[in-house]
Amino acid sequence: MKRFLSLRTLSLIVIAYMLIAFTWWSVLLYTKNRDAFVAKAEYMKIVMIAKEQVKDNVEFNETEAYQELAKKYKRQEWMIMGEALVFIISLIIGVWLINRGYNKEIESANQQRNFLLSITHELKSPLSSIRLILETFQKRMLQPAQIQQLSKSGLQETDRLNTLVNDLLLAAKIETTYHPASEPIPLTDTLHDLIARLRIKFPEAEFTVHCDPQDIFIQGDRLGITSTLINLLENAVKYSPKPAKISASIKIVQDNTVIEIADQGLGIPDSEKKKVFDKFYRVGSEDTRQTKGTGLGLFIVKEIVKAHQGSIMIMDNKPKGSKFKIVLPESSRFEEELMEI
Ligand code: ADP
Repeated sequence: MKRFLSLRTLSLIVIAYMLIAFTWWSVLLYTKNRDAFVAKAEYMKIVMIAKEQVKDNVEFNETEAYQELAKKYKRQEWMIMGEALVFIISLIIGVWLINRGYNKEIESANQQRNFLLSITHELKSPLSSIRLILETFQKRMLQPAQIQQLSKSGLQETDRLNTLVNDLLLAAKIETTYHPASEPIPLTDTLHDLIARLRIKFPEAEFTVHCDPQDIFIQGDRLGITSTLINLLENAVKYSPKPAKISASIKIVQDNTVIEIADQGLGIPDSEKKKVFDKFYRVGSEDTRQTKGTGLGLFIVKEIVKAHQGSIMIMDNKPKGSKFKIVLPESSRFEEELMEI
């Protein structure tokens, strides 16, 4: 990071020097050109007066030779100004490009650092919990209720680890060989099932579901679409203060399938709305953040939606929170009648 900053300062100093030097040379050239013109004109005038071709300044200014000289001078003046302008514009574009490159480098270095910190935490913490549980089983004679309780936490930690590994594998696959399957998916039923599972997993959260019509089918990758819905719903819970209030809806708008997941949580600032879809990107810094995660979820969601020729956008929910809206094209609709054949 420090290296980037010092490199950046150094290049800015060099660029500033180039700019000042070039401006100075341009001004010098401009004045020298004017001096040369004045001297040439003066010489020409003296010669013409000596040869009695002209009597005074007014007559000299009207001579063809002087007009030609003045025209040439003006041309050179424009040339100097034009070249200075082109150089300054190119320099500004260059500085802007270099600056953008540096910012991208710094951002990606930050993302890598955040990812390493979060992945280490995400992998290590369930592993140490499971280890602790197993050590407790080994060392102590436990009551059946305690065994139940500890086994339940152990299983939850295993699930967490499993989700993380699946996300990592899915993210890697998406970048290389992911082609969505084309199978019929009962979308509304899938959403209802997921919400039923999440009501058990997050008993304090309040979910409302609205589907119109009741049975909507699409054609696509069942695993991918399910993973998309889980990611959005779990994020909605994760980034909301308790009790989280989540609403999910699926409707048909102009033959497109529109899925909306809205929460009343922290919300996402406008400046972050695009970035949260980047791989490993998490809002804020890993040192201060309270929530667990890897920054892979929304990357996976965006890629899966894209692979289904759909689009995803984030809007502000009212009165607060965020709303994720997925639009799947008409081509991905699957008619129910076909499903029953
Ligand atoms: P993760 O949740 O593992 O950090 P995601 O890719 O799912 O990764 O999300 C990226 C970032 O987007 C999150 O770290 C969080 O800052 C922000 N985010 C995602 N969903 C929401 C939401 N519903 N409300 C507020 N912020 C969100």
